[in-house]
Amino acid sequence: MKDANCSFEAQTRRAMDTRSVHLTFDDGPNPYCTPDILDVLAEYRAPATFCVLGTYAANEPSLIRRMIAEGHEVANHTMTHPDLSSCEPDEVQYQILAASRAIRCACPQAAVRRVRAPYGIWTKEVLALSAKAQLAALYWSVDPRDWSCPGVDAIVDAVLASVRPGAIVLLHDGCPPDELRRGIHAGLRSQTLKALSQLIPALRERGFAISPLPHFPEQN
Ligand SMILES: [Zn+2]
Repeated sequence: MKDANCSFEAQTRRAMDTRSVHLTFDDGPNPYCTPDILDVLAEYRAPATFCVLGTYAANEPSLIRRMIAEGHEVANHTMTHPDLSSCEPDEVQYQILAASRAIRCACPQAAVRRVRAPYGIWTKEVLALSAKAQLAALYWSVDPRDWSCPGVDAIVDAVLASVRPGAIVLLHDGCPPDELRRGIHAGLRSQTLKALSQLIPALRERGFAISPLPHFPEQN
């Protein structure tokens, strides 16, 4: 009886919980950074959405499989991270479709349902081609600019200062190919990693639940 009450209370609490926060990580998977990010998420049992590049997914299929096995969502972040507004329609289509294929090839169980345009640059055409590929556009609402390595405290403070119920937080577990060519590898996302291990408990202390992104209305 007690268990039933607890269960009912838990369900009611969940139903009334509107203080969800969604964590998203772009520009991976990266063999030097993503495993550590996944370790922290596993330690805190926090779900996330990884917006991955198709070329990286093809190079690191085991990391895509690990993301899915550990309950995270994998989303499309194009094949090679171009500014899609400067691409011809054929190239936009290739960038989106090939990335979805690469993710599914790495992990056939992955349900690719969303796309995030590189740099958050959307055009009507990109939105239309995404919809045609049955991918929902994924935006963000909180950007602590962790990619610029502003310091662990700056990342944590920026998120806590602007987080609201339903917020989508943009973080990075890798970087685009043009930055990788500069030879930055180990330590690339060490600030993001440290910030994440502070952010998750800090958000929970403030009454936020780290939640998966909601399913689309038609899937409910
Ligand atoms: Zn990106």
